[in-house]
Amino acid sequence: MKFFLILVVVLAGIWLWRSNRQADPKLRQQNTKAAAPPLDMVRCALCEVHVPSVDAVAGEKGVYCCIDHLHRAES
Ligand SMILES: [Zn+2]
Repeated sequence: MKFFLILVVVLAGIWLWRSNRQADPKLRQQNTKAAAPPLDMVRCALCEVHVPSVDAVAGEKGVYCCIDHLHRAES
């Protein structure tokens, strides 16, 4: 009976170790997927705040962080 109990504990340990090893690559893949790709940053010509280029507003004299700064700088 004692031998059977030890065998069950060892098998459970091996099963847990194997399931943890299989889960690791999945976790790493999720972490790399969760990381956002780097964004191009541009500097506002008025207040010099850096904003992502997708959020920047392009004007005739440069790019701005918002439409308000575009109006203030170019009017
Ligand atoms: Zn600005």
